[in-house]
This record gives sequence, structure tokens and C-alpha cells, in this order.
Amino acid sequence: MSILVVGSVAYDNLDTPHGKRDDVLGGAATHFSTAASFFTPVHVVGVVGSDFDNAHLEFLMSKGIDVSGIKVVEGGKTFRWTGKYFDDINHRETLDTQLGVFATFDPELSEQHAEEPFLFLANIHPSLQLKVLDQMKEPKLVAMDTMNLWIDTTREDLQKVIERVDMMFINDEEARMLTGDLNVSVAAKKIMSWGPKVLVIKRGEYGALLYTEDSVFAAPGLPLSDVVDPTGAGDTFAGGFLGYVAKTGDISKATLRRAVICGSVMASFQVEDFGLDRLRELTTQEIDKRFGIFKELAHFEAAPLF
Ligand code: AMP
Repeated sequence: MSILVVGSVAYDNLDTPHGKRDDVLGGAATHFSTAASFFTPVHVVGVVGSDFDNAHLEFLMSKGIDVSGIKVVEGGKTFRWTGKYFDDINHRETLDTQLGVFATFDPELSEQHAEEPFLFLANIHPSLQLKVLDQMKEPKLVAMDTMNLWIDTTREDLQKVIERVDMMFINDEEARMLTGDLNVSVAAKKIMSWGPKVLVIKRGEYGALLYTEDSVFAAPGLPLSDVVDPTGAGDTFAGGFLGYVAKTGDISKATLRRAVICGSVMASFQVEDFGLDRLRELTTQEIDKRFGIFKELAHFEAAPLF
């Protein structure tokens, strides 16, 4: 099954302990769709300005991604995010966000896009997420992501989105912020009481927790000795996760658990280079191999202890 994603398509200015890069192709929808495209067809809805390089659209198309839903606004400026990472690479600061063409974006779905079975509301203003959700015919599964900015500034709209989704991705810090609960398990229960039946709490380099109505599954993070640029790791994780779920068309517990590992595998590649550089050259053989490494990482044989 295929996925429709709405979210930012961006240029990022990045400053990490490994160096600085400007005008790097980024954005939540871009990272998500590139990762998901390894598993299933993806359609993107978004907007860019006339400063957007055609070669970047061609890159997405080369991954089989449908970019017909990316509107180009003549004379407009593409969304731009500037971020800095510190020596502790888990610590990042947003230095600047320029909404550009996203400030006046009014998404209008084509008939074909409105009929997509899977919808991913990637990180973008919750009112835009709602506008897309309102136009969908009968999606089989709706998932969402968000970030601290929207928790801080547009709480009401964000709450409306959360109440209408089946699945939500959020990091641990944001889950605490959203609920006011310091304990992540308590926060998870509260979020699920608002609507989502499946909740994934991302914990950066420490992995992810998958909550369903009656279970919790913990996936480790791959211990990497060199993290170059974590930008987009969360979106890439969601892309690997949902890409795999859409490929199988199944939401059984076993599939969801494998999906968490697919997300972790894709995110572990993402952080190895700036922007999308690592995923550009990635092969399905490499993905398969790392999936095996993850299996080994968490595998042990139970034996009677006493
Ligand atoms: P992540 O590292 O997974 O949180 O995602 C980083 C990506 O999100 C970058 O490529 C940014 O362009 C994009 N981004 C940053 N801030 C925002 C925002 N306020 N709305 C939408 N996308 C954003």
C-alpha cells in the first residue's frame, strides 16, 4: 500500500561538531519519504519557493517518490531551518526558522491523493495537518509527528490532530512537555487516552518504545561510534517504520515490532552523513544486513536463573 505524506520540504543550515553545511536538502516530508521509498510508494504534499533547485525534485523522483503534490510558488522562498548541535550530539538548538511559502500554504489534495490508504502527517503547523486530514476520503491508517514548537504555540490545533490519528510518533522530551508528566510511561498512557492506538516514543540514540493498547516493546539504538548529523533522524525513523507497515499492509503486533527495527535501521544510516547524503547511496542489501545486526544486538537466550 502507498503513503501520502504532508510536511516540510526545506533547506537546512547545519552546524555540527563535524562541520557546517548550508542549503542542505531537508524537511520532515523529504526525510520521511526518502526513507519510506525503500519499502513502498510515497506521494508528497508540500510547497517550495522558486529558489528550490530542480535537481532536488529530480532526486526525490529518482527514489520513485511522486512529487506532483509539491507546489512551487513563483517568487516565494522555501522553508528554511537553521540548527546547531553541540559536543553532546543529543543536544540541539534551533537558531532560526523561516516559514517562507509555508506561511500561506493552503494544501489542496488531488482526487488520487485523497484516496491514499496511508496518511502521514509529518512535522508542520497542525492547522495544515488538519486541512489535509479533512480532505482524505477513507484512510486506513493515519499517523502523525510533531515538535516542541507546536506544543508551545498551537496547542489547541495540535490536540485536535492527536484526537484523530491512529498512530503517533513523538520524542520523550516532547511527550513530557505535551502531557506535563515527567514519567514517560505515564505520559504515553495519557497521550493514548486522547486517541492514538499505537504510540512510538523516540529516545534518540537510546532507541524507541512502542506502546500498543496491551503491550510495550523496547528497541535499542545502534551504538554508533560516529554520528555526523542527526537532523531528520526522527522523520527517517517514521519513514522506515510506516514504510514497512504500508508494505505489509498489516498492523499486527509482530509487524509493528519489526517496523520499529526498520525505523531504527533507517535512522542509524541517516545520522552517518549530512542531510540525505547517506540515504542517497543506500542499498536494500545494506538495510537487510543492518536489520540482522539489530536482531543480534537485542537477542539473548533465556535460561533458568535459579
Ligand atoms: P528531526 O531532526 O527529525 O526533528 O527533523 C529535522 C527536520 O525538520 C529538518 O530537516 C527541518 O527542515 C525540519 N523542521 C525543523 N523545524 C521545523 C518546523 N517548525 N516545521 C516543520 N519542519 C521543521
